[in-house]
Order: sequence, then C-alpha cells, then structure tokens
Amino acid sequence: TTTTKAEETTTVQPTTKPDVDTTGKNVKKGGYVKKNVSAYNLKLEEVTEVEKGVRYYVYKECNNGYSLIKVGNQELLVETKYITYKCNAKKIVNTSDKKYSYSDMKVDLKKLEKAYGSILKVDIAGKSLDKRNLYYVTLGNAKAKKTVYVETSVHAREYMNTKFMMKVIEDYCRGYDTKKYKGKKYSTIFNNVKLVIMPMVNPDGVTISQYGPKKIRNAKLRENLYKIAGGVDFKIWKANARGIDINRNYAEGFDRGDAKIPGHKQYAGKTPISEPETKAQVSVVEKVKPDVVICYHQAGEVMYHLNHTKLSNMLYSMTHYTHIISGQTHYGTFSDYLDARNILNCTLETGLTPAPVKNSMYKKIYKTNKDVLVSVAKMYL
Ligand SMILES: [Zn+2]
Repeated sequence: TTTTKAEETTTVQPTTKPDVDTTGKNVKKGGYVKKNVSAYNLKLEEVTEVEKGVRYYVYKECNNGYSLIKVGNQELLVETKYITYKCNAKKIVNTSDKKYSYSDMKVDLKKLEKAYGSILKVDIAGKSLDKRNLYYVTLGNAKAKKTVYVETSVHAREYMNTKFMMKVIEDYCRGYDTKKYKGKKYSTIFNNVKLVIMPMVNPDGVTISQYGPKKIRNAKLRENLYKIAGGVDFKIWKANARGIDINRNYAEGFDRGDAKIPGHKQYAGKTPISEPETKAQVSVVEKVKPDVVICYHQAGEVMYHLNHTKLSNMLYSMTHYTHIISGQTHYGTFSDYLDARNILNCTLETGLTPAPVKNSMYKKIYKTNKDVLVSVAKMYL
C-alpha cells in the first residue's frame, strides 16, 4: 500500500541537531538501518540520509535514544530504534550466471563497495592491454598488520574461479559481524588479518576465452589474435591479449618454458615482467607485503607448494587436493617470484576436468574452497 511505501522511504527525524549525549554504551561494530532514515551529520551540521542495505560502523548507543554511527570520516546521529545488527544488504553476486564476465564483475564490485564500504575497498592496480581495469579488493581492516594475498583467473580459461572468489568476498562481508569460523568471529579475524584479492588478473584473456577475439576492442590486438592463435579454439585461451602467459612472465626461470612464440599458453614474452597484468600484481605485492599468498588456478584438483608446511597441511585437510611438491622448478611463474622472496605460497587448482570447467562443477568448487581464505587468515591471528 502507499502508506507502507511512504514509511519505507522517508522519515523526517531528526530535523534539527539532536543533543549529543556522550554517555552511553560503546558498540564499535558494523550495523545497518532497518529502512532509509534521516540522520544528523555532526561535522557538517546538517540533516542527511542513511540507506538500508549499507553497512555502517556503529560507535555508540547514546542514552538519549540516538546512536552515533560513522561513515568514512563523518559522524552521524541516527535513532537507535532504526538500527539492526543483522546484515540486510541485498545479495549481489549471481552464481547462476554461467560465464561471469569482466563486466559482471565490474558491476558487482561497485555494488559490493557501496554496501560494505566500511570493510571492503576496491582499487585499480593498472589497465590491461585492451584497457580493462586490473582490480584488487581489500577486505577487512585496511590497516591490519597481517595480509593474505590472493590471485584468481591469471589463466583466462580458468574464469570460474572469479565467480567463486566474488561469491566468497560477498559471503565474508555479509557474515562479517555475525559469523564465526571455528570459534573466532569473522570480524576478529579480518580486523587483524586483511585479505587482498585480485579477482581477475587477466580480464582480456577471460574475455577472449568467453566470447572470442571479437570482444577485444583494440583492432590491432584483435587482428593479431587470429594470427597468433594457430587455429586453436579460443575457449581454451590461457594467455593475455597478445599471447603472453602471465604465469610465465616472471623473472625467476624466465623463458624456460616450451612455447617460443606468442600463442594461447606458455609463452613467456621477450622480457620478464613485461605485461601490465604482471606489473600490476608485482606492484600490489610490493605495496601490501603479504605474509602468505594463495594462487587460484583450475586444473585437476591438485595443490602445488615448495615444501610441506603447516599451511599446506591445513589446505590439504580442507580440500583433499593431491599434494605436489614443486621444489625449485623455476618456470617464471608467480610462485617462483614469491619463493625467491621467501613469501609463503600455495597454488590451489580447482576443478577436475580441463578448463573452462562445466558450470555443474561450480557447486563443488565453492563448497570445497569457501572457507579456505578465512582459515588461512585465522592462522595468522
Ligand atoms: Zn592456471
């Protein structure tokens, strides 16, 4: 009815500055408003609106019936009766979407950041050759001393991992104030150990694998793709838009691979760290200095790591992926780059059949891996 609708969208209180009552109960946790309500901005001294479905930081429940909430560096007073501590944000990531394209991710990142901006930050580490953004997200307390770094969809055809990762990002945000993992609150874990995730390292490649070169906007890149493909089905593309494999483009063991010319996989390029995607990852890693790195790939339900460690044993107990001790192989991979810097890392290969995996495999990938990052973060508490 119209009455309900009007109630849903507007409240007029407070129209003037409410008394700032400094006495009250300290809360200091995430909360939501039950509907769009008016609030009073203490700094700007004006009435403003707070939206339902957005996580705010509730600082204090004051004795005068108002709560002090924080939005960025602004402090607002809102009536306590409108506050709820249960997440009421709309669900964003649609996992029934078969392909989950770069554009889908871009739209969802924007929505996620709007709903959970107090715990989720979206940044851009560079642009791909075809000018797509190389996004990375920081989940949790951006100032946390410990960091878990995660890369996803380095290899184009392994794009289902992006859909899985975006869902996990949303899960962790939704459960931030209410859920626990093995007795520890998500908020406790992620306030102390942040996740830095690049959910689609190779967006041009993903676009090629999903739609073919026709979706590559730059004509030179597009025409070149047909030349270098050598008749291969673009669905199985792993490389970037000029046929360089990002996971062969690092300096450690550079150009030891089989491919000597650009193509769908394993060509290292002319020089190490020549590609924007490689450069972006290196810049983020150098900036955030991760304590541990999880590399998500998609081939055969196996896991690669240098040695058996507490981390690899824990990941095995969760996934039961077959252990492969990679040793000092050096093929210009991201793992080689990390090993050379003594950054503990493990590569998880989701999906049993060759990528792109069938959509029916999604459920198992999600179920097996949904708690991986929260459990890795918990190790560093
Ligand atoms: Zn891969």
